[in-house]
Amino acid sequence: MAIWNPWHGCHKLSPGCLNCYVYRRDESIGKDASIVTKTGDFTLPRKKNRQGQFKLTVEDGEVFTCMTSDFFLEDADAWRQECWDMIRERQDLHFHIITKRIDRFAKCIPPDWGEGWEHVTICITCENQDRADYRLPIFLSLPILHRKIISEPMLGELNIEKYLATGLIEQVICGGESGDKARPCDFRWIQEVRRQCIRCGIPFVFKQTGAVFVKDGKVYHIERKLQMAQAKKSGYSYVPGTGSADAIRYHLPERSELFTRLGQSDFRSRFHLSEKEKAYIAEKGMETIRSHAQDFVAKRLSAENPANDGKQTPMKGHPVFLAQHATACCCRGCLEKWHRIPAGKVLRPEEQIYIVDVLMDWIRKECDAN
Ligand code: SF4
Ligand SMILES: [Zn+2]
Repeated sequence: MAIWNPWHGCHKLSPGCLNCYVYRRDESIGKDASIVTKTGDFTLPRKKNRQGQFKLTVEDGEVFTCMTSDFFLEDADAWRQECWDMIRERQDLHFHIITKRIDRFAKCIPPDWGEGWEHVTICITCENQDRADYRLPIFLSLPILHRKIISEPMLGELNIEKYLATGLIEQVICGGESGDKARPCDFRWIQEVRRQCIRCGIPFVFKQTGAVFVKDGKVYHIERKLQMAQAKKSGYSYVPGTGSADAIRYHLPERSELFTRLGQSDFRSRFHLSEKEKAYIAEKGMETIRSHAQDFVAKRLSAENPANDGKQTPMKGHPVFLAQHATACCCRGCLEKWHRIPAGKVLRPEEQIYIVDVLMDWIRKECDAN
């Protein structure tokens, strides 16, 4: 990995810029970050060492471009074409360009851009829902071959599933804000975007906790040096098909505590068995119903990314379906929210047994009630 900063300095544009690290770092050395200047590294992709070899080599692989500015900044309009020329020359490298100014992209591309260049990935920042809903439709409409979304600093809940469902996004990266004035990042926001990625089969990276991290309503102040390490340790990144979520540590809830919580939910406690369903259970017997439950759990819930997740459990047609909705065992999102079983992993046999036990508990209670 290498960094190429052809120019330095930027202008604050949206809420994500409030505590911009370029400004913070420049302020600490008495520099004005709003003055945009070409750097000595402007021609880095062309630079060679004494042996006549390129300074940036294939081993560097990814070149993160314009990390102390924005590649599509107006101030750089006169310089950008030369950068495109250098990028065109270096097709042995892969350039990542991160921008908050995707609305300037169409005006800024080189004449031979066509459908996009294979060795360029464009990453856009979406710090909140408002900016996601503005930038993502533009992003998806443009000729780009490789697209990523970065939500860092993540400033609120984000629902981007309809954009992810287009299949045009290759990766989503989320993280909190660092620095003394950092705004909080809630782990629930991270989990929610992660579930959206899993449902769409898109890799997800939980990059850093940020300095103020909220988990289960508690606020944690995390030292700079631990922010990335903690995120990595959590196991919450998701790469389809790797079983990475098996690293997540959690405890299955205690069943009486679970039923107390379910009882407090208007939605969950609305579900009941009808007389017809009770008669069906009496006719089949509990052992048969249990085997049906095992079957549904195995076939509809247990895969790493079950088909149609969130919609795989009908609202009627079998007493087990009702039990699933009543106990929040209906989909992987509900299993994560209510039972702490992480989405994005294959359910282990003991997890499947736990779910079936919960379903049968509920069914038994319903049959006993008059
Ligand atoms: S666009 Fe990026 S570099 Fe520019 S001010 Fe905002 S956060 Fe800083
Ligand atoms: Zn559900």
